[in-house]
Amino acid sequence: MTSKPAGDEILSRADSLLLEFLQTHDADCPLCGYNLKALTRPVCPECGQALVLTVGTTRLRLDLLLAALAPGFFSGIAAFFVFILIAVHLIMLGSTWTIIAAVDSFGWLSGIFAIILARKRAAFLAQPRANQWWWVAGIWATHIAALGGFIALGRML
Ligand SMILES: [Zn+2]
Repeated sequence: MTSKPAGDEILSRADSLLLEFLQTHDADCPLCGYNLKALTRPVCPECGQALVLTVGTTRLRLDLLLAALAPGFFSGIAAFFVFILIAVHLIMLGSTWTIIAAVDSFGWLSGIFAIILARKRAAFLAQPRANQWWWVAGIWATHIAALGGFIALGRML
């Protein structure tokens, strides 16, 4: 669907709505910050960036998603370095480090869980805040319990 031409361009309906909005509103170019009010073409006159009409959210709260992801990413990264130590141990001494390998597998599983959660972040963010809080509490409780278990295990060795 097209409407009024501006210069030699035929504008789409979305472009027309964008320009109509900018006739009466201040908005900064998302790239260079130039004030786009009273724009006549859907292009930033300052930096040349093509502009489109989009739908945004008023306040996308990512705090609980980040809180839910943090332990898994930390564990996953730690598991990677511990895995290197296990591999070196295996190569140098020719023996497996069974208990440490078991501890390391928790880190890998946690890291994989965090990656899955990051990929399904839209589903996480669509949940009510109370449910998100339960996820965060469950994930942190699991990691704190696991850490406590590993420390107790380390003292026994
Ligand atoms: Zn610009």
